[in-house]
Amino acid sequence: MYGYGKGWELPRGEVARMAIRPKMDAQPLLAEWAKWGEVGLRGVDRDPEGAISSVRGWIDASDRVVVLTGAGISTDSGIPDFRGPGGVWTRNPEAEKLSTYDHYVGDPEVRKRAWQSRLELANRLGEPNAGHRAVVELERRGKLLLLITQNIDGLHLDAGSTPERTVEIHGTFREVTCLACGERGPMPDVLDRIRAGEADPACRSCGGILKAATISFGQGLVVADLERSEVAARQCDLMLAVGTKLAVFPIANVVPLAKTAGARVVILNEQPTEMDALADAVIRGSISEILPRLVEPLN
Ligand SMILES: [Zn+2]
Repeated sequence: MYGYGKGWELPRGEVARMAIRPKMDAQPLLAEWAKWGEVGLRGVDRDPEGAISSVRGWIDASDRVVVLTGAGISTDSGIPDFRGPGGVWTRNPEAEKLSTYDHYVGDPEVRKRAWQSRLELANRLGEPNAGHRAVVELERRGKLLLLITQNIDGLHLDAGSTPERTVEIHGTFREVTCLACGERGPMPDVLDRIRAGEADPACRSCGGILKAATISFGQGLVVADLERSEVAARQCDLMLAVGTKLAVFPIANVVPLAKTAGARVVILNEQPTEMDALADAVIRGSISEILPRLVEPLN
């Protein structure tokens, strides 16, 4: 179903559930690129400054940039990178269960632990950093077509990215939703109930299970958000992936989708990603240091 040459259709329905499928989707495309002699980690370790200059020039020439961000852009704001080295899930695989939808619905103990970890996350939620502000600058320059963030921390919006040009593809931690009646409300109100002693607070309208308004593994994405992301990926002239290993699907597919539609692909991350080989430039290093430089006009 991911036939190369037919474009990179994002999966629908059943398959649009959030999952990690490392080193699968990009493989046929990478093999194709290799045949063309186009594969190369341009910029990595050889000439990072040259890569930064190139990317600045590409952004100058672009008027339709799509930015895709992941946990790496928020680590300098004190938000843990769940899957990175030393990340919460890497150190304690049990913690990943808290983020799996079926476990959450089926087990009150999992929900109790999830609320405790939400309380913890709320306590260390930091301020936006220079990386978030750089995305705002890109929008101010009139370059941004769409910001797609996998992060649930709301820091892009805090930094000043406009909601109209922002898709929080995995939802937001700032709100809670009732799994039965769909009612949404502010997270702080429910965290107050936890602090007051409730272990697994129920919806006050219908008694249903409450959950952060985030997409868990195994849960379906919001179709409209996914479609908006896909359309933007097809239309962009530059896809800038920042702080993501590009291993969580279906959203990581927007990168090969943009590439096959003719856009340049730039990857900025501390570590290698699943899709480095299809990028026109790969830059490794601190996001809060490098991203502000990338969005500065070259001339
Ligand atoms: Zn309800």
